[in-house]
Amino acid sequence: MDKRDYYEVLGVSRTATADELKKAYRKLAVKYHPDRNPDNKEAEEKFKEAAEAYNVLSDPDKRAKYDQYGHNMGPQGFPGGGSGMGGFSAQGMSMDDIFSMFGDIFGGHVNSDFGSATGARRPRQRRGDDLRITLKLTLEDIAKGVNKTLKLKAFQKDSHCNGTGAKDGTAFTVCPTCHGSGSIQRQQQSFFGVQMVHTVCPDCNGEGKIISEKCQYCNGTGVEHAEQTVSFSIPAGVSDGMVYTIKGKGNAPMHGGVNGDLLVVIEEVKHPELLRDGNDVIYNLMLDFPTAALGGSVEVPTITGRARLKIAPGTQPGKILRLRGKGLPSPDSPGTGDELVNVMVYVPEHLNDEEKASLEKLRTSPNVQPTEDVKRSIFSKLRHIFD
Ligand SMILES: [Zn+2]
Ligand SMILES: [Zn+2]
Repeated sequence: MDKRDYYEVLGVSRTATADELKKAYRKLAVKYHPDRNPDNKEAEEKFKEAAEAYNVLSDPDKRAKYDQYGHNMGPQGFPGGGSGMGGFSAQGMSMDDIFSMFGDIFGGHVNSDFGSATGARRPRQRRGDDLRITLKLTLEDIAKGVNKTLKLKAFQKDSHCNGTGAKDGTAFTVCPTCHGSGSIQRQQQSFFGVQMVHTVCPDCNGEGKIISEKCQYCNGTGVEHAEQTVSFSIPAGVSDGMVYTIKGKGNAPMHGGVNGDLLVVIEEVKHPELLRDGNDVIYNLMLDFPTAALGGSVEVPTITGRARLKIAPGTQPGKILRLRGKGLPSPDSPGTGDELVNVMVYVPEHLNDEEKASLEKLRTSPNVQPTEDVKRSIFSKLRHIFD
């Protein structure tokens, strides 16, 4: 699907000021807000489209890049098409995520500003920060996939207070601001005129209670920084830079809520002899001249260990020998790559008199000289490279 121009989406000129952008976005956000358009998929899409456009255009840096490159790839590789610029796309986001990202544009709790029809929404659940680690994997690891068990330091729920931060997990008192309801009502001048709105109580975050005595172990934070053991598996065939998300294994938030995730970034350790090319691996084989001429068998490294490889008589440098299935699997499709053995022929550099004499005898031998056919075939091969 073609993306609409962000300026067009917001209905502003390309020279619009930050203020004009904000006004335009507010207008659209109100118009297409889900509370005014219940179960209206089109309105939701428009709402998200506007949020994405505003996300980009309200950031001077992203806006400059957008002005220069549009939705297409820029030098820093904005993902074009389906996903948005700078890693942001409203398409895959929930409405709650959009609210939390743009809440400030409405001057506070956007949930509640629109909440008059449905009452105050439940407080947003707190979420801890993600943890990010780098996992070094050899080609051998990557070929098989790995199961890892690691010890990591992370913020974890303090068991003394069950993550609440209140002494024994029970030392709470009714919130004096909202008297335990979790929401407060106030009169507000809104886009729809003056109205009563419910707002999540800012003092208790909508929980209706506040801590009366802090937990002594975590000093009221509800978390402790401690070692945890995490086990996870990484499928076979992953590549350098891939990120795996281990749900819920990141930091616990303060005062209770859900844990962040553990993000495992794959780093491929270079193999000493094999080069990776997608699912294939490449080995540069240096063959001695007699074996190339007479044929024989050589040992080559593979991901799964050494393998013997038959060399046919008259094997030329540049010949690619394929070891089927000796490459890598793919994490998301069936089939396994191959090992490609790229033949090079070693020309001896230091010869003794006897060796020189043998070669000297060969020099004039008719079969040692390349025929016209061989010369032509090499020439046409080379020409294809430059075509
Ligand atoms: Zn309260
Ligand atoms: Zn505690």
